[in-house]
Amino acid sequence: MSKPTSTILKMLKTRKDCPTAEKIYMEIKNDMPDVSLRRVQSILEHLCEQGLIIKIKSRTGGPERYDASGLPKITFECSKCGMIEDIYLYDIQLRRLYGEMKKLGQEIEADTDHSYINLNGLCNKCKQN
Ligand SMILES: [Zn+2]
Repeated sequence: MSKPTSTILKMLKTRKDCPTAEKIYMEIKNDMPDVSLRRVQSILEHLCEQGLIIKIKSRTGGPERYDASGLPKITFECSKCGMIEDIYLYDIQLRRLYGEMKKLGQEIEADTDHSYINLNGLCNKCKQN
């Protein structure tokens, strides 16, 4: 694994905010000035193909985001304005949910390593207009 690849993977594993490729690029460019945004995007694609990270696609055309925490991921995406918000759970809730998601996988005899739940609907702002 190349240095930029392992740096990106390590960084993604410690975060809960699911950054976009652009955000990752902005954060590593000072330490790795020779790594372009295109390179970051191709590294992320490669890590997805290997199953080491997951890609979170936007339903409303926003940029894709990436996650490697392995913990259940819950986001809300407004179907009108496209606003995306992470929903954070307390660690204890997260672990309980993780157990439940694992059990769901076991029901079809699968060994799961990621889970992602996307809630869609109208955000508070769009609800009032
Ligand atoms: Zn909205």
